[in-house]
Amino acid sequence: MEKPRVEDRLREYGFDDFRWLSGKDIVVNQWVRFKCQLMCQRYGESAVCPPSLPSIAACREFFAEYESAVVLRKQKTAEHREPDSVLFREIDDNLLALERAVFLDGYYKAMALPMTVCYLCRECTGDRTTCRHKDKARPNPEALGVDVFATVRALGYPVEVLNDYGETMNRYALLLVE
Ligand code: SF4
Repeated sequence: MEKPRVEDRLREYGFDDFRWLSGKDIVVNQWVRFKCQLMCQRYGESAVCPPSLPSIAACREFFAEYESAVVLRKQKTAEHREPDSVLFREIDDNLLALERAVFLDGYYKAMALPMTVCYLCRECTGDRTTCRHKDKARPNPEALGVDVFATVRALGYPVEVLNDYGETMNRYALLLVE
């Protein structure tokens, strides 16, 4: 499953902390979608979040089509309450550059799912067809029904519900590779 060339690329783009898994080991659950639909105050506002995304069944099928994927970890604190657009801008840019590099290396199914909700516009159009940056906007794993907690814990990675801005966040992106 591991691919040395991809690992070189991961380090080249600043992702030193990663673990491989099979697409079938990415946990996709209906409850994740229900949290979006029933509890998120921004439901319906983002072009790369539900309800603009496929069903949970389709998401599960999508991930299972990948023999290989990589979980990428970054650690941050939000001590000064900076938004993700500040804390993760460089990381997100590097993730898209990594996706492109891996694709050009011949992994034609390469697709990156960031550790943030898209923040590229002050006001999101809320619809994929009218998205202002279709080339850059990607759903995060949760938007596609991924239980990130279960998925990364099975790999031995830590993730907790935090209670204070001074606590360290463990944030996770996915790179699907094949
Ligand atoms: S690029 Fe803009 S319109 Fe597209 S998903 Fe992101 S915030 Fe919404």
